[in-house]
Amino acid sequence: MRIAFFGGTFDPPHCGHLKIAQAATQRLHLDRVLFAPVGHQPLKLHGSSASFEDRMAMVKLAIAPFPAFEASELDAPLPGRRPNYTIDTLLRLKASLHPHDDLFCLIGADSFLTLKDWQRAAELIFVCNFIVAARPGFTLDQMDRALPCNIQRQTILQQSKELIRFCLRNPQGKQTELNLLPDIHEEISATAIRAAIAAGQPTSPLLPQSVLAYIYQRGLYQS
Ligand code: ATP
Repeated sequence: MRIAFFGGTFDPPHCGHLKIAQAATQRLHLDRVLFAPVGHQPLKLHGSSASFEDRMAMVKLAIAPFPAFEASELDAPLPGRRPNYTIDTLLRLKASLHPHDDLFCLIGADSFLTLKDWQRAAELIFVCNFIVAARPGFTLDQMDRALPCNIQRQTILQQSKELIRFCLRNPQGKQTELNLLPDIHEEISATAIRAAIAAGQPTSPLLPQSVLAYIYQRGLYQS
């Protein structure tokens, strides 16, 4: 099985998340994508607006039409509001899989650019192969600068309009693969959606209808 972990705040989940997960599924031949709302994201100091339970409920509604997508509790809040570190979650997930399964971590380019700040980043990048969805303005130079601890981009393994596969290597010779989805340019962000809802502006092309209905029913993001 080819499985991707897709972590995020999902506050709320939006059509940008669904589009990158669909593109990754189709281009990397994924069997399952695990949408895992995070309990406490270490790099988002002010936390999330909606509770973990609401974010999980919205994720379930958003992915309902997609059989390959699953909501996952893997990154649920930890006791004592401890931060959820992606490396711990991925190592736990990897240990639960069959040795022949291929694990990927799907992230957006903006998150990838903060990689150096992630817990044990130089180790994390070798836990599984990464899939990075471009965001408007993202360049390969930025990607190179975001690589931690002398890890360097090496050979291009495959290149097309839809997928660039790179080999990454550290000074000790350890290798991993980075799969870039270069043509994704979704202008959608949860921050903009929360602001639009608070201002009473329309959001319908950006959010699945079921998620929007849930937001209004629960009174989320209204102020
Ligand atoms: P916020 O605006 O609150 O920071 P967000 O819209 O970036 O939220 P997250 O839940 O933080 O959404 O994102 C989860 C993952 O999805 C992250 O890796 C993020 O980079 C990626 N992502 C979100 N929106 C897009 C998008 N429009 N294009 C590409 N990647 C995206």
